Amino acid sequence: MYLRIDKLQLELPMAENPDIEAAKAVQELLGGQFGEMSTLMNYTYQSFNMRGKDKLKPYYDLVANIAAEELGHIEAVAATVNGLLTGAAPRQEGAAADSPLEAVLGKGLSHHFLFGGQGALPVDSRGIAWTGENVFNSGDLVLDMLHNFFLECGARMGKLRVYQSTSNPIARELCGYLLTRGGVHQVAYAKALETLTGVEVGKMLNIPNISNNEIPEAKKYHDQGIHTLMYRFSPDDYKDIDKIWKGPHPEDGKPLTVTDELPKGGPINPGTPEPQVYAPGYHPGELAEIAARLMKNA
Ligand code: MN
Ligand code: MN
Repeated sequence: MYLRIDKLQLELPMAENPDIEAAKAVQELLGGQFGEMSTLMNYTYQSFNMRGKDKLKPYYDLVANIAAEELGHIEAVAATVNGLLTGAAPRQEGAAADSPLEAVLGKGLSHHFLFGGQGALPVDSRGIAWTGENVFNSGDLVLDMLHNFFLECGARMGKLRVYQSTSNPIARELCGYLLTRGGVHQVAYAKALETLTGVEVGKMLNIPNISNNEIPEAKKYHDQGIHTLMYRFSPDDYKDIDKIWKGPHPEDGKPLTVTDELPKGGPINPGTPEPQVYAPGYHPGELAEIAARLMKNA
């Protein structure tokens, strides 16, 4: 079962900085083949289905625990897309005759405005829906770990390219954090493969061969040592990840440690109403009054 904490894993810049094209690009990190929905669902199904969990506990713990972290990553990517879409169309209450959405027609991902309420969608940067075809779970532990290593390499490629496609500070902050955490997962699956096969997979890193230290938004997290930490996303469980997550980091030799502390994180943006797409309603003030009455009566 899952517990939920109403925070993001990172602090995102809250300033309104609408950027329709960046929102479209960042969708690749959510619903793309190598996006966070894919890492989340691959590790989730692998943890559900692993046979011999009791005997393979360090591997089960690693996959299950990283799956929980990935759930927070889709939340962070969605928050980024939402931030980029805030204020992206002329804000207008009531006067639909003025065609406020004409200003965004043909820009970015039309589905953000025509289907969604200026919010993140489970689609890639082309607008194509994420699919369960992106989940690979052969049941063979070595093959699944090899797949996960490859998946994190592809995910890292996506983050680097989205970073290179926008100078928007919300998108770049997200990429910096996810490059750091995805780097942790790359190393984790490399270590898992090393314990299983004896092959020094960590020697293949970096893939792609660009250091996170060249990305200022990622270097900031590396300077804090966040690239060496495996967060344990459970009050009492998944304690055997430290059988795999240990030893030196392959890039800088710093010791890898498991921590019971959660990421410092940041607040969830409450989200400015966008009445031109009726989110949360055509007259958002009325809904806010109804909710205020509920809270007063409680
Ligand atoms: Mn991730
Ligand atoms: Mn990952």
